[in-house]
Amino acid sequence: MPDLKPDDVQSRLASVLARIRDKEVQSGRQPGSAQLIAVSKTFDVDEIRPVIAAGQRRFGENRVQEAQAKWPLLREMADDIELHLIGPLQSNKAKEAIALFDAIHTVDRDKIAGALADEIAKQGRTPKLFVQVNTGLEPQKAGIAPREAAEFVERCRTVHGLTIGGLMCIPPAGEAAGPHFALLAKMAAEIGVENLSMGMSGDFETAIAFGATHVRVGGAIFGSRPPVVTEPVAPVVPEEPAA
Ligand SMILES: *Cc1c(COP(=O)(O)O)cnc(C)c1O
Repeated sequence: MPDLKPDDVQSRLASVLARIRDKEVQSGRQPGSAQLIAVSKTFDVDEIRPVIAAGQRRFGENRVQEAQAKWPLLREMADDIELHLIGPLQSNKAKEAIALFDAIHTVDRDKIAGALADEIAKQGRTPKLFVQVNTGLEPQKAGIAPREAAEFVERCRTVHGLTIGGLMCIPPAGEAAGPHFALLAKMAAEIGVENLSMGMSGDFETAIAFGATHVRVGGAIFGSRPPVVTEPVAPVVPEEPAA
């Protein structure tokens, strides 16, 4: 008998999958029409392995370098793993990104589109591409402005020769996500792309109700991420030497 603790990563994965299925059914959608991307950023290979062992195959990472360090090894566990880049991409990382990822969710400017097109031609790989839309027009956030998105998707097709399969958004923190999901769904219908990458641990059920085809869930599966350390931590020095 496997020794499963009630709050381990495999139980949390099962619970997220059950919640996705319930929401699909409740929303009158086909079971399986919303695909789970397990967001494994900041978690190391030993924490990701049990999730692969439990049958999950689609994973998301937000940094090219971190993914390069982890996934060649993890991919040896299964030959049908699908790796999604969900974080901002710099054009000087396009080569590595195309070599490593099966989907890129963060195409948001011509320079990136051009760099990806060059690498797709060179490497003969064709990852699924999403255009990221900054639905909240947040200055610190990546993504193209909603009013420029249709033209940008058209330029991706005609100027860069890319096939854009969907749109992606990250609603502003602390705002109701529903209106952002609704806007993204409306834009996708107008532009004529099928896929909608939207919804995270806190709002993936809402996203499914609005038509998400890809939900990106990290914390609800892997547990909370350690805070990002920006400065070296000073060594702890005991105040008094032990007697
Ligand atoms: C980290 C991240 C997620 C997952 O967030 P959780 O709240 O841990 O589920 C989803 N999308 C993007 C773009 C992320 O960077």
